[in-house]
Amino acid sequence: MTTSREVRLKSRPEGMPQPENFEIASVQLPDPGAGEVQVRNLFMSVDPYMRGRMYDRPSYVPPFQIGEPLQGGAVGEVVASNDPSLKAGDIVQSMLGWREAFNAPAAAVQKLDTHGLPPQAFLGIAGMPGMTAYVGLLKIAALKEGDVVFVSAAAGAVGSVVCQIAKLKGHTVIGSAGGDEKTAFLREIGVDHVIDYKATPDLTKALAEVAPKGIDVYFENVGGEHLEAALNAARPFARFALCGMISQYNATEPPVGPSNIMLAVGKRIRMEGFIVSDHFAMLPEFLRDVSQWIGSGQLKWRETVDEGIDAAPGAFLKLFKGENIGKMLVKLG
Ligand code: NDP
Repeated sequence: MTTSREVRLKSRPEGMPQPENFEIASVQLPDPGAGEVQVRNLFMSVDPYMRGRMYDRPSYVPPFQIGEPLQGGAVGEVVASNDPSLKAGDIVQSMLGWREAFNAPAAAVQKLDTHGLPPQAFLGIAGMPGMTAYVGLLKIAALKEGDVVFVSAAAGAVGSVVCQIAKLKGHTVIGSAGGDEKTAFLREIGVDHVIDYKATPDLTKALAEVAPKGIDVYFENVGGEHLEAALNAARPFARFALCGMISQYNATEPPVGPSNIMLAVGKRIRMEGFIVSDHFAMLPEFLRDVSQWIGSGQLKWRETVDEGIDAAPGAFLKLFKGENIGKMLVKLG
């Protein structure tokens, strides 16, 4: 028997989640049964989409259940195996995050070939957020020569990869993020024009100053004022990849606007929402390109790491307070 602590949903948040919405519980894990492995998680991911799973409503992923452990991406090490496909010491990826350790059928985890990268990179740059950036920019926005690209939440896990892919493909990139540390990071990774939206009274004016001829692509992570500013700045036939709208995930009332949505008609803007999991067929080409770009030094990444399972709810809340730069992770092992 080994003990594992896990984070459970205690109650459904209303508005911004609070620490009281979560509880930490201990469970005893027996030795793994036939066909099972026991895994000790090294890192778990916290992601904005998890907020959506805390509502009790239909969506593209089912809601979390009260009293049950939360789920999400994690990388861990097999500590005991009762299945021939895996052995102790193997590094695996799973959706069984938010817990220190677990027993599961071997088929519920994927052995990770880390290609020399730290395993937690597969929760960020080389994992779901990196793939989201790749799919959204190259497939959904269909990036083409000469595009001027505007990215919101640009210093985050997805946004910072979007900015760098657009840069390495030769584009002019405008990134918006909140605060000095984030804007300094954006300059470090080569973003041409950086907007600190928290210090900017008029986002439309700020965009017009750095992109006097307008933008061709908007990579939407935030919604609200950012979407309105992007509509104002868009050139005819601009493409908007609607990846997320984090400013609205905790809204208790449906938000107003965008008040200028009619511009989408006259400017013939194409807006397309997407969910990365519909595009997993692109995984091999994503992994090929991303490892090449990391190897050549063209793609860099940052992580914000909190430690221990007790820190996991707080790490999740940081996403909504803007307290992460790059990928937000919790180190467990
Ligand atoms: P980030 O690492 O970007 O973290 C979230 C960031 O959002 C914060 O650091 C903060 O940055 C910004 N933010 C939070 N609240 C607000 C607000 N009210 N107004 C403006 N900015 C805010 O997270 P991810 O990279 O993991 O996710 C980015 C976006 O991509 C999210 O919308 C997410 O839902 C979406 N997503 C979509 C996927 C898909 O398949 N469609 C897959 C993965 C992610 P700052 O300090 O700069 O404000």
